[in-house]
Amino acid sequence: MPPSPDQIIRPEILALSAYHVPPASGMVKLDAMENPYSLPQELRDEIARLAADAPVNRYPDASAAPLKARLREALAIPAGMDIMLGNGSDEIIQIIALAAAKPGAVLLSVEPAFVMFRMIATFAGMGYAGVPLKADFSLDLDAMLAAITQHQPAVIFIAYPNNPTGNLFDATAVSRIIEAAPGIVIIDEAYHAFADASFMNRLTQYPNLLLMRTLSKLGLAGLRLGLLIGRSEWLIQLEKLRLPYNVGVVTQLIAEKVLQYPDVLLQQAAAIKAERTVLSKCLQVLDGVDIFPTDANFILLRVDAASQVFQGLKQRGVLIKNLDGSHPLLKNCLRVTVGTPDENVQFLTALQATLKKPIY
Ligand SMILES: *Cc1c(COP(=O)(O)O)cnc(C)c1O
Repeated sequence: MPPSPDQIIRPEILALSAYHVPPASGMVKLDAMENPYSLPQELRDEIARLAADAPVNRYPDASAAPLKARLREALAIPAGMDIMLGNGSDEIIQIIALAAAKPGAVLLSVEPAFVMFRMIATFAGMGYAGVPLKADFSLDLDAMLAAITQHQPAVIFIAYPNNPTGNLFDATAVSRIIEAAPGIVIIDEAYHAFADASFMNRLTQYPNLLLMRTLSKLGLAGLRLGLLIGRSEWLIQLEKLRLPYNVGVVTQLIAEKVLQYPDVLLQQAAAIKAERTVLSKCLQVLDGVDIFPTDANFILLRVDAASQVFQGLKQRGVLIKNLDGSHPLLKNCLRVTVGTPDENVQFLTALQATLKKPIY
């Protein structure tokens, strides 16, 4: 008898459902926090030349020293802090979980949070504890401190701003968590470009703090480049789990080139922030729609029947994210990425049509 998967695969993996990426071809795609703008033509021409000359027959530079130097400058990384690169920051979460997965070790985060924290804890065989946010999606500091005492987590992940809620947590509360943690705390700043706050300059203050960034939400999601910033004592250990050529040669070349012109992506982020204000104002006045404050490039909204609204939008060619059912606090919640002015109008038009004529 050949083995069946359930004899071989770990039960917690059998119980998982794969991360679902819905088909989006031909749709107004506002589901994945992508930057809707493309790069300027001159920069695209430069990238085309770099790609043409890229030594794709060779393995990439495993140290990626030129790219790291560029990142250090562009992100104003404090002196004395090291950088580890990942194939997206998802891979960095995985490296941290694999490294910390002693028997019984726990990864702690808030709920609702970025789903990969929980999923990757499971991949790595770590325990997972999720502390519910308050109903307004602020941190429940007392509950966090109690959970830290109870679980003694090896690793805490906090996204700042948080996904899928979009808000920045109170920085003092986050500091209290870092101070109370018996292990490492990773502040995931995937949405930093759209917020006016960071823990970057606290790195020197807290020996157990690490900071994660990604170029994905900034406009280079297709390149897959994330980075972890922190003290070498931690990064030396984590580097042992990083697969040697995890960041490809084309990714390295293009990221390095784009970062030579940091204003390009920052101006796009500024345009997205301005559009976020416009879109928020338009949503605020709609009957039957409540929106939550956001410091990210997306807006969380609550409607009366989220799944019907989601379907209505989809039928009208607009793809957003339905969060209803993913967590009790997200009942009837939808998440829309801020797109171009034109895409946002298409979304608003489709939303108004759907609210007027729902498909119950
Ligand atoms: C999108 C996202 C990531 C993953 O980004 P990649 O670098 O594309 O893997 C990480 N954390 C949060 C909170 C995110 O929303």
